[in-house]
Amino acid sequence: MVKITWILLFLLLGFSVKAIDKPQIVHGGVLMQYHHVHISTPSSTSISPDGFSLHMKTIVDEGYRIWPLTKLLDAIATQALLPDKVVSITFDDAYVDIYDNAFPVLKQYNLPFTIFVATQLVGRKGYLTWDQIREMKRAGASIANHTHSHAHLVRMAQDESKAEWISRIRNEIVFAQEIIEREIGPTPKQLAYPYGEYNPEVLALVKELGYIGIGQQSGPASRYSSLLMLPRFPFSGPYSAMKSFRTKLNTLPFPVAETALNPILKNDETPTLSLELLEGNYRVSEATCYGPGGPTELKITDAKQLIARNKTPLPVGRSRYNCTMPATLGNRYHWYSQLWMRKNINQSWYTE
Ligand SMILES: [Zn+2]
Repeated sequence: MVKITWILLFLLLGFSVKAIDKPQIVHGGVLMQYHHVHISTPSSTSISPDGFSLHMKTIVDEGYRIWPLTKLLDAIATQALLPDKVVSITFDDAYVDIYDNAFPVLKQYNLPFTIFVATQLVGRKGYLTWDQIREMKRAGASIANHTHSHAHLVRMAQDESKAEWISRIRNEIVFAQEIIEREIGPTPKQLAYPYGEYNPEVLALVKELGYIGIGQQSGPASRYSSLLMLPRFPFSGPYSAMKSFRTKLNTLPFPVAETALNPILKNDETPTLSLELLEGNYRVSEATCYGPGGPTELKITDAKQLIARNKTPLPVGRSRYNCTMPATLGNRYHWYSQLWMRKNINQSWYTE
């Protein structure tokens, strides 16, 4: 009898060790990005109040862990293992409709959220006031930096030296932070790039100033991401539809060491994105990448290098390559996105 008990115990232990031994899935956290919550603001940056309510109801009802942004960024910065289904709610630009149409829903569910404010715009027509921002902060919001004047940080003015440009964008960031702290108190150094635009000089400055930088290229943020250009999923206009909303909330990070490519195209208008995949549970043979106009050319080497290049030159303006590949288990996708910016033919900047 004793012998049988020991054998049973041994088997049980063996099985449990085996269960623990399973390769670990690295989860990311999805930074949800909104701008307007309104029916009659520009569609490309808006979600309707009903659409927003449905998004919030979905993440609450379906068991997502809705973390304050700082908690998620701290976890990523310390390389902590994230649990599954972590999301964080963010708004850019501090439009007044956040207070009118989103805040009542967020309050109803008691959800944390972050507003990235361009401080010069606060109090103007159509934007939040500091009193409204303070009220939302008392109810669980955090306020973070979106520069002072919502400048295109990557754009050096024609009459500016490089040193003057860097000094100007340094002031954009530092001044905005001072105003935020004067109005609402100490706040973590988190910067959302206006228009999601960055380049190597901007990243170097943001690093020097000690900020975490947040972009607008899509994908879940994870231990694989650079803390200077964390991805977010925009949920506005056509990107707010429920089917793609669920797919995006369930994405897994691309197991790849982040490469800080210069997204500003110089001579090559058809840039190449090359990703070196680390070990993981994915089906690389089913990877696809999309650029403007459809699927890109895609080469997958034996060494698990994924090389994507658009079939045609990229258009003037901002565009992205979005790569996905299915996970081995479950109906889920790994997602990676790369920003590109192409100037006008005469090397002037495109108008926004
Ligand atoms: Zn903005």
